[in-house]
Amino acid sequence: MTTRMYQLHDEYQYFLLHHGGKNTVTGSCHELRIDQYGILIDCGLFQGKDSASDPVTVLNIDFDIQHIEALLITHTHIDHIGRLPWLLAAGFDKPIYCTKATAALIPIMLEDGLKLQLGLNKKQRSLILERIERLIVPVEYGEWGNIKGKEVPSSWSLDKKQKSKKSHSLLVRFQPAGHILGSAYIEVKLPNDEIIVFSGDLGPSNTPLLPDPISPKSVDYLVIETTYGNKQHDDVSTRSQRLEKIVQKSLQDGGVILIPAFSVGRTQEILFDIERLIEHSIQTKTTSDDFWQQLPIILDSPLALKVTKEYERFKQLWNDECTALDKSKNARHPLSFDQLITVDNHKEHTRLVNRLASTNEPAIVVAASGMCSGGRIMNYLQALLPHTQTDVILAGFQAYGTLGRELQEGENHVYISNEKIKVEAEVHSMSGYSAHADQTDLLRFIEGIEKSPKKIFLIHGEPEVKGKFKELLKARFTSDVIV
Ligand SMILES: [Zn+2]
Repeated sequence: MTTRMYQLHDEYQYFLLHHGGKNTVTGSCHELRIDQYGILIDCGLFQGKDSASDPVTVLNIDFDIQHIEALLITHTHIDHIGRLPWLLAAGFDKPIYCTKATAALIPIMLEDGLKLQLGLNKKQRSLILERIERLIVPVEYGEWGNIKGKEVPSSWSLDKKQKSKKSHSLLVRFQPAGHILGSAYIEVKLPNDEIIVFSGDLGPSNTPLLPDPISPKSVDYLVIETTYGNKQHDDVSTRSQRLEKIVQKSLQDGGVILIPAFSVGRTQEILFDIERLIEHSIQTKTTSDDFWQQLPIILDSPLALKVTKEYERFKQLWNDECTALDKSKNARHPLSFDQLITVDNHKEHTRLVNRLASTNEPAIVVAASGMCSGGRIMNYLQALLPHTQTDVILAGFQAYGTLGRELQEGENHVYISNEKIKVEAEVHSMSGYSAHADQTDLLRFIEGIEKSPKKIFLIHGEPEVKGKFKELLKARFTSDVIV
């Protein structure tokens, strides 16, 4: 692991440190150091090159944590929370601040990782999760709270006495990032009243379910992700029409539609879009038979199901359109499916795969993983790729080396569990399902800041992307841009 350090201010001892991987930019873990103490922002797992080299030692927390007073979490993607168990193993026992929805999702997301990646049994998993849950302090969006000083208020409200004691206070505020449920960008007020913002991952504009992120008013130092700093996404607003076309066409010849999807974010958006299509067909009565209403929608992913329930539970975080639909007496409610069939245990799953393979009856199956690199989708693909009536909809980026990428590139044969499978299914690539802000969204976020930042730090993106985005920023803003 390597640590990079930048001094934020010429006079004050404020530093930004990045505890990152040797080879990659994944595994988000930043430290804000103020004089002798520090706070961490995220503690994520490495992906790509670093995770492959030596999976155990690479996870060890090899930087000093004695002076760390708190951990702030932007959201629950595994590249932002995955190293939490290792942080605890290194002796961390300070408060973990995050939004309420993130607090609810952390155990769900980590439980899965601890089980699948580390093979821990139920007792071992619950011991770790209990320790983490004890440290979590769930906070409200949009409220400043003090995280430093002896009398840290237990409620997330500002204690006026603490506010005046500047040396004993560090104010932070979580704001909606529109990326996944509970996601936030974090504003931190430094002791000299300057503000540093950690963007976490920002969501794209116009997605269903979550509102778009609103720029902070005043920022002195901005630490921003640039995953898609060089790309423009396809229009989100037309994606449900594109999905409808594919589904209509594939349903004409029967067979199963397989949608590989990530459990958090993508799955809920796809379910939302499918639900809107059913609603649309009921309202317009475009289909003579009511096949949309009869069509089984199968969610075969226990993790995605748990996450979807949290999306329903935290309705107050939905955007206006979604909330209006939910309150409408005439429309079907988003995410509350009459037609959704969920598959719990593995026996049920195997039975369903066999049934669909032998009958070829129409159904939509949503299952993880999103790039076909594991998870229950693999059994469906193994059984159904050889059928000409099967359709596979790839809704998202497919990384090089994954089965999803091979299918996207039109391979005639693929290997699943060492079995050579002939691909007779039709494979469709659907864009418009990214959870990340694109170049325009990122620029809009920065432009929306009334007082331009003095320094902008670009993180979480390929070096080439960061370089290009830096040029773009330098042409528009007076800020110092640091890659
Ligand atoms: Zn993320």
